[in-house]
Formats: sequence, C-alpha cells, structure tokens
Amino acid sequence: MAHPLAAPLLSGSRRALARAITLSESTRADHEAEAQQLLAEVAPHAGQSIRVGLTGVPGVGKSTFIEALGIHLADAGHKVAVLAVDPSSARTGGSIMGDKTRMPQLTVHPGAYIRPSPASGNLGGVARRTREAIALCEAAGYDVVLVETVGVGQSETQVAAMTDLFVLLTLPNAGDELQGIKRGIMELADLCVVNKADSDLKSAIRAQTELRAALNLLTPHDAPWRPRSLRASALTGEGVPEVWDVVLEYVQEVDLETRRRTQTAQWFDELLREAAWRLFRNGLDGHKLRELRADVEAGRLTAIQGVAALTAG
Ligand code: GDP
Repeated sequence: MAHPLAAPLLSGSRRALARAITLSESTRADHEAEAQQLLAEVAPHAGQSIRVGLTGVPGVGKSTFIEALGIHLADAGHKVAVLAVDPSSARTGGSIMGDKTRMPQLTVHPGAYIRPSPASGNLGGVARRTREAIALCEAAGYDVVLVETVGVGQSETQVAAMTDLFVLLTLPNAGDELQGIKRGIMELADLCVVNKADSDLKSAIRAQTELRAALNLLTPHDAPWRPRSLRASALTGEGVPEVWDVVLEYVQEVDLETRRRTQTAQWFDELLREAAWRLFRNGLDGHKLRELRADVEAGRLTAIQGVAALTAG
C-alpha cells in the first residue's frame, strides 16, 4: 500500500514535504520504517535537481547570499529548497545558524522551501537525514537544492559528498582569510565567491586574484573542472546572477551522472562500515576489550597487537 504522504508530496505540497522530512528525522523505529518506505516509493522521482553545497565562516554572509540567490532563482520560476547542516545544533540543541528568520524574504516566497538543520543526532545521523531531505525535496518538485553548512570544518566533507558542486564564500580581506580557511575546505571548493565586494572593492579584487592562484595550485592538471573565483555582494545582489551562470556552466561541463554514482557508492561504503562496526562491537566481550585497551595504554601491547588479539581467528 502506498504511503499516504507519497501522493501529496509528489504533487508538490509543502505541508506533505515538511511532514515527510519530520518523519525521516524521527528516531522512533516505526517512523524510521515508514520513512524508508516513503523514500523508496518516491525515489524514482528524485534526482532531477541541481544540488549546491555552500559554506563559509559565520558572518561571511551565507544566509544573505542564499536569500539573494534563492530569490533570483525563484523569481525566474525555479523551485528552490534550502537545507542546513549544522552539527552544533545536533550537539547542543542550539544552533550557530539559527532558524528561518535568517532569510525573511525567501521564507515567504511561494517558490521556496527552507528547512533548518535537524536538531538531534550525531554528524553521521545529520548527514543521512540531509541526504533524505534532498531526495524528498526533489520528489516534491524542487529543481534547485541549496545545502548550507556552517563552515567550521566538520560537516563540509559530508555536504560536498552529497552535492553536485560546492561553493566557498569568503571575505575581501583574503590575506587573513586564506590562513583561516582550512586547506581541506579549499580543496572541496568548485567555486569561491568573495562576498561583501561592495564594502571594499579593491580588497575584493585582490582576494579574488589570490584565491584564483591558490585554487590553481590545488587543482590537478587533468581535473574535469578548474575551480573558479568570483566576486559578489549578497547585500546589493551584484554578482549573484553570475554565480548561478557559473553553476550552469559547471553542470554543462562536468559529468554529473558519474559524480553522483560515485557519491552513492561511497555512501553505501560508509553505511556498510558503520553497520559492520556496530555488528562487531555488539559481539565483543566488553571485559576483554577494556583489558586490551588498558594493555595498549600502558604499553604492554602495541595498538596493532591489541587489535589483532580481538580480530584474529
Ligand atoms: P552568515 O553567518 O554567514 O549566515 O552571515 P549573514 O548572512 O548573517 O551576514 C552577516 C552580516 O554581514 C549581516 O549583517 C549581513 O547584513 C552582512 N552582509 C552579508 N552579505 C553582505 C554583503 O554582500 N555586503 C555587506 N556590506 N554586508 C553583507
């Protein structure tokens, strides 16, 4: 029997979408089973959006930028979903990113749907739920999904692994900025945008040049896409349409199908690793584990010997 949310979801009901995402966020076993049924039913209708990940340190202008980009796209007839990944909210119940009030105009736009970060679960759980939320949004007809992450270095890899293209927002004072940005995050970026160009154009131009050089250094010669750097002002809207033009160029140039297939296979591997660990852990003799751990800690055994003692035979 079809899940009762499937039909309204597929016809684009925001209410059904909100309820479906809530269902997928629930940790109750019966809800989880229901959510998996619903996801399996709507899966054939998912996958048709452009998935864009966005990151940047707090204060760089992520919500202002997403609102400007979202309105630009929704006004042009796109259906835009905004999802947030904020591990701080999972840990503390509070959130660095706050909630919907960060994007007041986009929130009330009929072509947009904004969903804050799930407030429970560990980072792995949040990543799973975000993947499911992307699929549910796509099934509800959203053709652009923007996934925002807080830019403090924990969730970026996860978000890059579930999106088609990853955008790093930076500030005009890139000299200081570049040192603060973890090299790992730069390596994930397909596009860097120097935001707040209105506040200091000269610095923004310099920052853009420096970023271009840094990205060039980081990108292998045979990469299918050379990461780009742009300037914009989320406040005035200048440069925002150009960011979208580059997204479209990327979508034309890069083989998204292969990227998504690889992502799905990697996701399978990750889930399998987790499941295998749980199975193994459940079968372990807790007393023996603690003893061996103490032996390793005290230097009576090497770490490799300790693990071998648990896994051999
Ligand atoms: P987030 O923490 O990254 O989401 O940053 P916000 O979007 O909340 O922006 C932080 C502050 O920067 C707010 O006061 C914004 O009004 C301001 N801001 C964002 N984008 C721009 C911009 O392009 N130019 C200027 N001058 N200020 C901006």
